[in-house]
Order: sequence, then structure tokens, then C-alpha cells
Amino acid sequence: MNMRESANTIIETIERAGGEAYIVGGAVRDTLLGRTPGDYDLATSLLPDEVIPLFPVVIPTGLEHGTVTVVVEKIPFEVTTFRSESTYSDRRRPDHVTLGVSLEEDLTRRDFTINAMALKPTGLVDLFGGQADLAAKIIRTVGRPEDRFGEDALRMIRALRFMSQLAFSLDERTEQAIKECAETIQYVAIERVAIELEKLLLGAGRPAALRAMLRTGLGMYLPGITPDTIERLIASDLDGVSKDDVWTLLLDAGFSPDRLSAFKRSKKQEQRAKRLVCLVHLEQLTDWQRYALTDEELAVLNRMTGRNHPDRTTLPIRTLKDLQVDGRDIVALGLKKQEIKHALHYLEQHVVTGQFVNQRPILLEEVKRWKNRRENESFNA
Ligand code: ATP
Ligand code: MG
Repeated sequence: MNMRESANTIIETIERAGGEAYIVGGAVRDTLLGRTPGDYDLATSLLPDEVIPLFPVVIPTGLEHGTVTVVVEKIPFEVTTFRSESTYSDRRRPDHVTLGVSLEEDLTRRDFTINAMALKPTGLVDLFGGQADLAAKIIRTVGRPEDRFGEDALRMIRALRFMSQLAFSLDERTEQAIKECAETIQYVAIERVAIELEKLLLGAGRPAALRAMLRTGLGMYLPGITPDTIERLIASDLDGVSKDDVWTLLLDAGFSPDRLSAFKRSKKQEQRAKRLVCLVHLEQLTDWQRYALTDEELAVLNRMTGRNHPDRTTLPIRTLKDLQVDGRDIVALGLKKQEIKHALHYLEQHVVTGQFVNQRPILLEEVKRWKNRRENESFNA
């Protein structure tokens, strides 16, 4: 079974039990666009307690929001009871959700017309003109945009994220409302904003979405981002960027590395951005620069810049472990424990840059000399 067939089986099982169920959200949008959805979310009239006994493998992933995960052939499907949401006063999560409402109410709480359709094998439910907006390539809120952004300001940056991912334009009233509400984005949990910003920066329609960010002023309320950063992002020629290295784009556009932590990204993303950004404009890398990257980082750098830096197999060694001596050898030569790291680093640097050949007798000899030099220096000091 493919994912769509599995989703349909879930729907039919729920219907046989007397409930209603639909594919909702992004999967409907992507299906109508002729794209293959990454995942399928379902909405149902049944309560979690009623869904759980219908399937052999069900994980109660978010009972308080009405969500269980039904696993079919190892693929997870989120099945959520029709729900409505009250306002997001902490700007993170709705204050409370009400389960057991109608499909119409469930679709009404959704952000954009193109995300607010429901699909089942026997037909499509499209209450807000989602299909028309898909055809016209327009991002438009369900209901009055000022109200919807007032409930959850994250939706403003989501609008630009979908513009970018789908290469759609922004409905005029929706844009106007972002202009009016832009300032409130600062109160949204930064992790939520960062996830949307990442997706925005990775989308094919990035320049247009970023221009909308400038026009509406939304960018001014993102930490550390200036109009100049946005202009430079629009003009950026770095390409082939993935989720892990997207922050390199921002740093390259003049965003201060010190401000990166404000977005609370993973250590891996932060480190990668800081390491790569120093290298993206270099025509050539020294052997030491290549050595300091991982194989994957070097591949990313080549992809982003379109350059062809030789891969790391051409280096004399690829890691410290490839050195023909190790810590024990250093200790055997009479060096102190705390000197091991320095000595190995010294050898590593000289081997990588081709000054020493990676052969055991040579390296041992060089360590001895290094040791003597250090002793003389400290003696003279
Ligand atoms: P993606 O393919 O990137 O996952 P998606 O449309 O599935 O896109 P999600 O963030 O996974 O986006 O959200 C799933 C659905 O939940 C959306 O399509 C929308 O209907 C609804 N939704 C998500 N976030 C919000 C929000 N902040 N306000 C209103 N509705 C939302
Ligand atoms: Mg999704």
C-alpha cells in the first residue's frame, strides 16, 4: 500500500465505526498541486478513545490536543479529533482546544485557504475557496487576516514561508494585515519562528517572500535581522542549501554570528554556519582549511558555492587517528600528560600542510626536537 491508500484505509475503518474522517492540511494541498505529500494528517469526528480500539498499532501522541498516531505498515498517521482553538495568549499554544466540533469548525481554525481543505475517497470539502487560490497561486487567510494574526502571530511568517515554498504570491489584504500586525511577531516563541524562517529560506520562491518581508516590515522584528541582511539574502547566490546549513546563508548576508543563539537552533546548525561562512567566498581552500571540515561539510560547501574543492581523500591524513604516532608514543618520549594534545596538534598541522611526512620515525624525531625546543624556551624565559 502507498501512503495515500493507507490513509484511505484509515478513513474507511473510521467510517465503518460510524465516524467521519478526512485527509486534511498540507497533504490535501500537496495532492491537489500534484506533489507527493511528505506525510498525511487526518481529522476525525471520533474522540481519541473511540479511535484507539479501531487499529492494531496506535500511539497516544497528543491526547490533550485530540491526537493519536495510527501506524500502518510502519508509517505514522496523525489522527486528530475535529477541534476548535481559543486564542494563543502565551503565543505558543492555544489556551485550550475544544474537541468534538464539526468539520467546518475544524477547517475554520486553519491558517490559509489552501491549507483548510479536507479530502476523502468520495470527495473534497473546500469551504473557503482553497482550490481557486491554489489555481491563482495565492496565500490568503481563512477569515479576516487581522483577526487570524491577532490569534496567532506566527501565521504571518507562515504566510511568507508558504509563498517561498510554493512560489505563490500574497493576497493584498493578507499583506496589509501583516503590515499592521508585524510588530507582534516578537512575542511568538522564537523556536516556532525559526522553524518557519528556515523553511522560508529553503524555498524556491525565497526572493519574493523576502521582498514581502521587507514591504511588510515583518523582518524588522526578527532578532538581529536588518533590511540590509534581507536585501543581501535576496541577492545571495548560495544554492543547494539544506536545513542544517541554512543559517550559513544568514551569516553570509551579514547577520551577526553573536545573534545566532537568539534563534535557539541546535549546536550542530550553529557550528556549521559559523564554520562554513568563513569559507564560502574563498576561491581555494588551504589543505588545513579542508582538513578542518568534515567530509559532509566540504560537500555542502561545494554544493552551496558551485565550486569544486577537491575532497578530503587527497589530504595526507584525514583525522588525527591517521597519524603514525599517538598519545602513548608521546608519553614514552618523556612528555607530560598535559603536553600530549599540543604535541599531536603540532604534528597534525605539519603533516596536513605537507611539512612532515607521516612516517613514524620522522614524527618521533620531530616530537623530540619540539620537546627540546620547548625546554630551551622555558629555560631561557
Ligand atoms: P508542511 O508540508 O511544511 O508540513 P503543512 O501545511 O503540513 O506543511 P504544518 O505546519 O505541518 O504545515 O501544519 C499542518 C496544518 O495545520 C496546516 O496545513 C494548517 O491547516 C494547520 N496549521 C498549522 N499551523 C497553524 C497555525 N499556526 N494556525 C492555524 N492553522 C495551522
Ligand atoms: Mg505538516
